[in-house]
Amino acid sequence: TAFSALGLSDALAFAVQEMGYVQPTPIQAQSIPVVLTGRDLIGSAQTGTGKTAAFALPIIQRLAAHGNLRCLILEPTRELALQVEEAFQKFAKFTDLRVTIVYGGVGYGKQNEDLRRGMDILAATPGRLLDHLEQGNCSLDKIDILVLDEVDRMLDMGFLPDVRRIVQKTPASRQTLFFTATLPPEIASLASWALRDPATVEI
Ligand code: AMP
Repeated sequence: TAFSALGLSDALAFAVQEMGYVQPTPIQAQSIPVVLTGRDLIGSAQTGTGKTAAFALPIIQRLAAHGNLRCLILEPTRELALQVEEAFQKFAKFTDLRVTIVYGGVGYGKQNEDLRRGMDILAATPGRLLDHLEQGNCSLDKIDILVLDEVDRMLDMGFLPDVRRIVQKTPASRQTLFFTATLPPEIASLASWALRDPATVEI
């Protein structure tokens, strides 16, 4: 299929076909081959462009192929975190990768249990993730792939200081994927601090 031509495995190409995706969107066509190589990426794209699959599919392939790799996705809101978690669950249903989510505004009990059980992919909002880190409920020393999604919305919501604290708790050797619809100076400087020799994808 057009998705296998981008380097995705037959299992993943089949999973997206089952979801009714026929052609990759422009951001998928440009991002998937780059993310598969392990390179950092900065993508300027909004929701609705197929951005989630553009990072989720190659991440799942890398995690499924290497074993033991872990991924963290930061989202500005609970709704976006839930959407991303759901997308990862669907795409990863042919694998044994475990997907978990933490966000604010709800109790800690179930999230503590989920974190204790362990996971390969964690979707999170910044404030609640920092609370869990401070309480020692999880650690980011084993994060191999970090996704900073909707960074312009995280800026609008005042989350950039939290985002920086979280990035600092992940290994410097990580792969970092950075998505934003706009690139004002604060975001450009966060990107140049967090990313190493990124490929740029604009749509
Ligand atoms: P996103 O921009 O990631 O929020 O995705 C927007 C919507 O487009 C979601 O409902 C996806 O399931 C859908 N979608 C993503 N990629 C494709 C594709 N290649 N073909 C058809 N639908 C897609």
